[in-house]
Amino acid sequence: MTSASFGKASDAPRPRVVIVGCGFGGLEAARALRGAALDVTVLEKTNHHLFQPLLYQVATAGLAAPSISAPTRHLFRRQPNVTTLLGDVVAVDAAARTVTLASGMALPFDHLIVAAGATHSYFGHDE
Ligand SMILES: Cc1cc2nc3c(=O)[nH]c(=O)nc-3n(C[C@H](O)[C@H](O)[C@H](O)COP(=O)(O)OP(=O)(O)OC[C@H]3O[C@@H](n4cnc5c(N)ncnc54)[C@H](O)[C@@H]3O)c2cc1C
Repeated sequence: MTSASFGKASDAPRPRVVIVGCGFGGLEAARALRGAALDVTVLEKTNHHLFQPLLYQVATAGLAAPSISAPTRHLFRRQPNVTTLLGDVVAVDAAARTVTLASGMALPFDHLIVAAGATHSYFGHDE
């Protein structure tokens, strides 16, 4: 690489968008950023997107499990500005603009989209 190739406008760092979760929200957010001049990293603790509304059909043997889940990497294979990583996000440092995975890896971001879904709560009455 020659010195002339440094400092081109195209070499300027692009904004980094980190999306936590690849459910309905994360998938839609990443797809909405298709073609945008930024680098998107989708962090998902499983290796697939799950279409939850059809879980009942799988539970009752009406559908096979692969019919309602798709590998995260496969979903974004034609979206070059997306990188997918398998990882469980355990911490967000808003001041330092990093997310930390269970593996200990810290990932910097300029913009963060948290689409990690929801879980049930019995408000302290698990019995
Ligand atoms: C049985 C069932 C039937 C349903 N039927 C319907 C229906 O008919 N119509 C309808 O509109 N809605 C339905 N829903 C609800 C719908 O599925 C949810 O509203 C929707 O999935 C929520 O999307 P989300 O992106 O917020 O979360 P999710 O789809 O739950 O996605 C969250 C993702 O984040 C990942 N994640 C979570 N924590 C972390 C972490 N720390 N690090 C990395 N990744 C993480 C999870 O693995 C998951 O993939 C149904 C839900 C269920 C369970």
